[in-house]
Amino acid sequence: MKDYYKILGVPRDAGIEEIKSAYRRLAMKYHPDRNPGDKDAEEKFKEITEAYEVLSSPEKRRRYDAGAEFDFSDFFSGGISDAIRFFMEQFGFGYEPSEEFIRQRGEDIRVVVELELEEILTGVEKRIKLKRYVSCPVCFGRGYPPDAPPEVCPTCHGRGRVKRVTESIFGSFSTISTCPTCGGAGRIVSKKCPNCRGTGRVKEESTVSVRIPPGVSDGQYLRLSGKGDVGVHGGRPGDLIVVFREKPHKVFERSGDDLLVTVPISFADAALGTRIEVPTLSGEVSLKIPPGTQSGQLFRIRGKGLPHLNTDLYGDIVVEVIVWVPQKLSKRERELIKEFSAVTSVPKNPDRSFFKKLKKRLLG
Ligand SMILES: [Zn+2]
Ligand SMILES: [Zn+2]
Repeated sequence: MKDYYKILGVPRDAGIEEIKSAYRRLAMKYHPDRNPGDKDAEEKFKEITEAYEVLSSPEKRRRYDAGAEFDFSDFFSGGISDAIRFFMEQFGFGYEPSEEFIRQRGEDIRVVVELELEEILTGVEKRIKLKRYVSCPVCFGRGYPPDAPPEVCPTCHGRGRVKRVTESIFGSFSTISTCPTCGGAGRIVSKKCPNCRGTGRVKEESTVSVRIPPGVSDGQYLRLSGKGDVGVHGGRPGDLIVVFREKPHKVFERSGDDLLVTVPISFADAALGTRIEVPTLSGEVSLKIPPGTQSGQLFRIRGKGLPHLNTDLYGDIVVEVIVWVPQKLSKRERELIKEFSAVTSVPKNPDRSFFKKLKKRLLG
């Protein structure tokens, strides 16, 4: 059984600080970077690391003192680089153990959804089919098979960065740069997952349900956080951006929250006044046409338009009344109109602002 106290050169009652500083001093002495190619130094480095690993944990130290043996074959499965990584973790040399790879956030996906005015009125749930990257089911997004975990990069020993010393006439400069071997990841994949070719993600057809609120407009969009492509090597997914396109309606034209509709009436109804049925997006409503209504006159039916997004307010239906001039006349119609024509007249010099005023008053 190895004597870990002797290996670190500390007494059996040494405190944790004493153990730590002894390990640090010896690790610096036997560090492979300082003893390139020296197999004895490597073995010594592994030995002191093993001793420190046990004695620095109160629980393991108690078991060791009671005579327990420890198997380090797993701990050093990656060889000397595992020992180096452990050493750097202990003394905070910037190795980030959680970051096995450079993870990239996934891309945003943009989809266009076409909406009928009726759907905009009530809001609607849409099921959107799309192809997007999902986490690889074989390697769970890691990019390597479970039986071939990545190895610590031999160039940077897991640091992801390398120190380069340049000699110049002014002296030597050392610069820190990204490791060229692993690209800064600190680890190297020896075997890529065959299913995703090492990217950790695969394209898949999926369906996403989107609840679209009432009152949206053409060109507006919803951003569904995290519903886009999954990133490379299990990186955070991007967003799904759902853009709304309003389909043209056969009856209505939209103007903000208002709906414009044109309704023809006969000359007689315009002159005498009447009631007409006006279409809305949810059934017909009755509208009173006063006597003397002009062609092109506008009427507002309050609250029957589209909802204003995120409010309880509704726009109006704006009715443009067109006096319908018959294109074919029966004999009887022709006679009556001729008779009517003999007793009626139109204003000689119609005031240009008359129609404007009329529209303004009714719309205002
Ligand atoms: Zn995979
Ligand atoms: Zn590297």
